[in-house]
Amino acid sequence: TATAEPFTLDNTYARLPGEFYAHAAPTAVAAPRLLRLNRPLADQLGLDAQALEGSAGVEILSGNRVPKGAEPLAMAYAGHQFGNFSPTLGDGRAVLLGEITDRNGARRDIQLKGAGPTPFSSRGDGRAALGPVIREYVVSEGMAGLGIPTTRALAMVATGESVFRMGAEPGGVLTRVAASHVRVGTFEYFSRRGNKDAVRALADYVIERHYPNVADAENPYQALLEEVAERTADLIAQWLLVGFIHGVMNTDNVSIAGETIDYGPCAFMDAYNPATVYSSIDRGGRYAYNQQPGIGQWNLARFAEGLLPILDEDETQAVAQAQAVLERYIKRFETTYYDGLAAKIGLQERREGDADLAYELLECMTEQGADFTLTFRHLADLGQDSDERDDAVRTLFDDSAGFDRWAERWRQRLAADTRDDAARRAAMRAVNPAYIPRNHRIQQAIDAAEAGDYQPLDELLTVVAKPFDDHPELTGYARPPKPEEVVERTFCG
Ligand code: AMP
Ligand code: MG
Ligand code: MG
Repeated sequence: TATAEPFTLDNTYARLPGEFYAHAAPTAVAAPRLLRLNRPLADQLGLDAQALEGSAGVEILSGNRVPKGAEPLAMAYAGHQFGNFSPTLGDGRAVLLGEITDRNGARRDIQLKGAGPTPFSSRGDGRAALGPVIREYVVSEGMAGLGIPTTRALAMVATGESVFRMGAEPGGVLTRVAASHVRVGTFEYFSRRGNKDAVRALADYVIERHYPNVADAENPYQALLEEVAERTADLIAQWLLVGFIHGVMNTDNVSIAGETIDYGPCAFMDAYNPATVYSSIDRGGRYAYNQQPGIGQWNLARFAEGLLPILDEDETQAVAQAQAVLERYIKRFETTYYDGLAAKIGLQERREGDADLAYELLECMTEQGADFTLTFRHLADLGQDSDERDDAVRTLFDDSAGFDRWAERWRQRLAADTRDDAARRAAMRAVNPAYIPRNHRIQQAIDAAEAGDYQPLDELLTVVAKPFDDHPELTGYARPPKPEEVVERTFCG
């Protein structure tokens, strides 16, 4: 019915001790307009898309009305930002409305990002500009399309108000859905204050919500650390395999549930270069593409540090346990990454020498400025016999002779696999996307949307939501930017 409440919310986080959050209601906006509702996601969440698109829904998605049962709050957290510790960050521009249970029985946070000031806003305005809201919507949905764990975007609303960044910009509110918003920085908020009871309460909450399998382990907190390390290793390996650079891997932007979270000046690379940095605020390249695995370990070390008091009464023992996990993290990352690379070049299973073979292709791509995504996608179309020459992949290299030499060795290796060419091609197309949310396309979609034209945004969302399918009707979305289209820098919202 028209009057049904679009959300039925619960809020387990609000039942944690008061020091975990601050009550914070969203601040109403002048003229909310729903720009997009993610219908497939609404459906997965068991929500009534029609109700959300109606006026009652838009009132909630803009923060103008708090749904029944919601206990809106801003979560407390700390964080290491570019290596420096900030004891109090917290949700300065996001409000957690509560949680819903999705169709699979999983509990998911519903958060309004850009919903106005909270007790953690300090000097910030609590708002988000529409450009970065569109950016997060596109990139997080693209990440989901690639099958990589991520927060999701349920809706975006234009507020009808201006926010002031470089100048006046239209404002927006993003409805973000997450397994939870607990971060490494949430643990640090308590551990750095020496609040062992709160660390334990948070760890127990996280185990119950995300890692119920470890509850019966001999040492549940050690097992928790192990699980978070594994998920983080796998997540970062998957980022590398699609060319993603998060851009701000501060500990407050690292999800304990292993999801990609807090899309700011992030980007997918076009031409492959492992040293790539896009973020305008990352001057030292701390969060460059190839620094991410090591930074992941550094961030986990901050998490482990905070857990030490509850890992073992004997501090030496606790440190030894934590160090062992951090070493296994690297092994886990390498396994996932090199297995993934082998799959990307069409190998059935990874054997001795395969990592080197894949690496040589990456080196060739770096030297020749080859497009990361298209090289792997078009490699699928290259025949197993050397007289079958498909020019699509070769033309991505300035000097195709270097690629041809590599391809010869690749074909020799393929001959040792039992799978036929058609099966190999299908497997490669299933792991190598045709589309990524390319920077220049995101920028074009934002510029057009701000001018009232939503077609480029819709088209971009269509291709990135199903990036392994070809979308021949939407031409140009797979191609890299022309020199004049290249976006060199990305900015925070
Ligand atoms: P971020 O760089 O988005 O991960 O945010 C880092 C910290 O700054 C978090 O505590 C945010 O809540 C806070 N913050 C970012 N932008 C704003 C804003 N416009 N108003 C208030 N707080 C903000
Ligand atoms: Mg953040
Ligand atoms: Mg943020």
